[in-house]
Amino acid sequence: SKELGRNTYQIYDESMRRKSEQLFFLERDLRKAILKSEFIAHFQPRVNALTGETISAEALIRWEHPVMGLISPGDFIPLAEETGLIIPLGKWMKRKVCEQLVAWRKAGIPLIPISVNISSQRFLQKGFAKDLQNLLDEFQLEGKWLEIEITENSIMKNEEYILQTLRDLKELGVKIYIDDFGTGYSSFNYLKTFNIDGIKIDRSFIQNISSKSENASITTAMIKMAQHLKMDVIAEGVETKEELMYLLEQNCYHIQGYYFGKPCSIEEFEAQFLFQKS
Ligand code: C2E
Ligand code: CA
Ligand code: CA
Ligand code: CA
Repeated sequence: SKELGRNTYQIYDESMRRKSEQLFFLERDLRKAILKSEFIAHFQPRVNALTGETISAEALIRWEHPVMGLISPGDFIPLAEETGLIIPLGKWMKRKVCEQLVAWRKAGIPLIPISVNISSQRFLQKGFAKDLQNLLDEFQLEGKWLEIEITENSIMKNEEYILQTLRDLKELGVKIYIDDFGTGYSSFNYLKTFNIDGIKIDRSFIQNISSKSENASITTAMIKMAQHLKMDVIAEGVETKEELMYLLEQNCYHIQGYYFGKPCSIEEFEAQFLFQKS
């Protein structure tokens, strides 16, 4: 009825209003958080499942909100991207990772590469490779200790410019991985053109891989293709023994997922994955 229609509209309107209000406060808090560096980096291991060795780690941001507690990136990265705040956030993370690598080096701990997520906004901005070089120089770090993860949509536009950026990164020794591989729009052509170092197969393909035959065949095809192109393959979101076994059968043994370890604080990461080397 008309009556109901109007009520529905009002409820919708009210929830929209509340939502935009929440976003308003979140953005305000996020701006403050950036000034006060209210963030922490969690590290998640990538393990060579054949040797059990931690070969690298992905740095994942968390926000320590003074009132709301720990906020996961899914709840603020989209807003950060919309408002451009992703740029200072990314800057914070890259610096944080470099500081950590230097701290390990000073403590005599053998380094492993740490991988950071780069928003397409930043990646497509002028001077990305140059800024990264300056950062590495500042910390006197070799490029091989820093890896970057970009999504397919970062390299679908402005081919000439991307090619140059990727060449510059290659020169620095910074490895480039395609994140969430298989979920974006892609003709796989670019993998060859752009000389990508590796792909990360998205968790959505890995989930229930032994029971869902469609996911299994897509994953197998992606692994084969990557191997053919001599790219590294990391399977992401591996949680179960079954999933791991399937991947090992396909010769994919670089694994990131809860099965080997959830993202954790750097202290925990050191204790569990760096000092436990055997
Ligand atoms: P992502 O880059 O695809 O990161 C992997 C996400 O999957 C992480 O979620 C990780 O905790 C989760 N994950 C890993 N293994 C498993 C598993 O076995 N099972 C399940 N259920 N999940 C698993 P997280 O940390 O919440 O990050 C979400 C997304 O936020 C990231 O997805 C990335 O797109 C973005 N993000 C995180 N940190 C940063 C950052 O510093 N910069 C930018 N630009 N984006 C970031
Ligand atoms: Ca990632
Ligand atoms: Ca991913
Ligand atoms: Ca993702």
